[in-house]
Amino acid sequence: MPLHLETPLIESLPLGLASGRSIFLKMDALQPPGSFKIRGVGAACEHHARAGKRRFVSSSGGNAGMAVAYAGRMLSIPVFVFVPETTTERAKGLIRQQGADVIVHGTAWDEANAAALASLDADTAFIHPFDDPLLWTGHATMIDEVARSGLAFDAVVLSVGGGGLFAGVAEGLARNGLGHVPILAVETEGTASLAASMDAGSLTELPSVSGIATSLAARKVSERAFELSQTRPVESVVVSDTDAAQACIRFLDDHRVLVEPACGAALAVAYAHADRLARFERILMIVCGGATTTVERLQAWQEF
Ligand SMILES: *Cc1c(COP(=O)(O)O)cnc(C)c1O
Repeated sequence: MPLHLETPLIESLPLGLASGRSIFLKMDALQPPGSFKIRGVGAACEHHARAGKRRFVSSSGGNAGMAVAYAGRMLSIPVFVFVPETTTERAKGLIRQQGADVIVHGTAWDEANAAALASLDADTAFIHPFDDPLLWTGHATMIDEVARSGLAFDAVVLSVGGGGLFAGVAEGLARNGLGHVPILAVETEGTASLAASMDAGSLTELPSVSGIATSLAARKVSERAFELSQTRPVESVVVSDTDAAQACIRFLDDHRVLVEPACGAALAVAYAHADRLARFERILMIVCGGATTTVERLQAWQEF
């Protein structure tokens, strides 16, 4: 039994009305730890457990850390999540709720990550948040499920942080004979590292990242993500933080599911940038989810 669930695939009449297109939602917000990440993280953790590893380490205070904590609890393997001082109490609480140890180290992610790497030994597996083929193969299961349902679609919309979801969906499309289907790769203005690389024609590191879509805040996407942007049909879409926050609020009203701005960014393509969907008829949107936000914070962000 894999650690992720098979998630619902539903047609969204509200997003369809907003965009004038048929929109289908892959509801990975409903995974137990709150996001799609458990697909890849679960597959990677099971791999390492089979290989005899006895501890898992993560340096993500976000949904990747939560997924590792969940996987460790399911597999009865201790998990240590290294996070910087800037990590919210809510995020730390969600990780501890899964039974993992949270180790606060340093003022920025780089320092927490360095401490995590320094803690590794032969019995310990480090679970990267986005740059590992084991993750991509695990994330690809969401496309296997859609393909098995028989749904025909002519574009996929998804959010891009470091590009793990993107690489996984591309792998899932390829292994189901759908490698020609375009992917609309969505980022926020403050986190547009794939857009910068695609513009430059080479893998580019942003000097800094900013904004409310913290789960997209990778200064550089993986090499694999950039390579895919050059070798398969991919369109970059960049939305504002306001678009992303408003999409979360509307989605909560429309579908009664709370997601992070990282996910709202993708939903905003239907709500606020439907011109980008004009060439397509039936669109698959990956509702990647995210557990770190609250209604109160969304309302505050919406005022921006
Ligand atoms: C991690 C995450 C993303 C981005 O995934 P990448 O693999 O880093 O591109 C998007 N949305 C949510 C909710 C996430 O947790």
